[in-house]
Amino acid sequence: MAGAANPTCIFCRIINGEMPGHIVFEDEVSLAFLDQRPVFPGHCLLAPKDHCETLMDVPADLLGPLFANAQVLARAMEMGLQADGSFVGMNNRVSQSVPHVHIHIVPRRRGDGLKGFFWPRQHYENEEAAVRVRDALRFVIARLQSERRA
Ligand code: AMP
Repeated sequence: MAGAANPTCIFCRIINGEMPGHIVFEDEVSLAFLDQRPVFPGHCLLAPKDHCETLMDVPADLLGPLFANAQVLARAMEMGLQADGSFVGMNNRVSQSVPHVHIHIVPRRRGDGLKGFFWPRQHYENEEAAVRVRDALRFVIARLQSERRA
């Protein structure tokens, strides 16, 4: 759901200045602030100012500016915090503890111990299993793209 502020949403309250936050960046469409429980110091959350719950709810015209700002923050991790790189990601519904869409930008350093951060991996059982998943995704993506064009 996209829309103006939601009074029960903690991120809307930070965005509106009703709750404290260590703001690192602001423009017309988004705000970035320090995560209060960082994976590493400097871990930021970038959120659109309008309340939307998940990536799927972000209006199309906001996607570009939002991700351009994520790029700025990823650069800032390297230039401002001397990070070697960053992890940029978001939870949608599952593991999403705040239902106001936000992009995590986490500074990373070689040897920082987060080798397994992107969760335990597995193998496809066989080629057929990979093809099945590939085709399921291709099918629905083709439908979504034709809906978008319509
Ligand atoms: P997620 O679990 O992906 O929804 O991420 C939500 C993040 O918001 C967590 O990493 C929390 O530490 C962070 N968080 C929750 N409340 C606040 C707050 N008031 N100020 C800053 N960060 C917060």
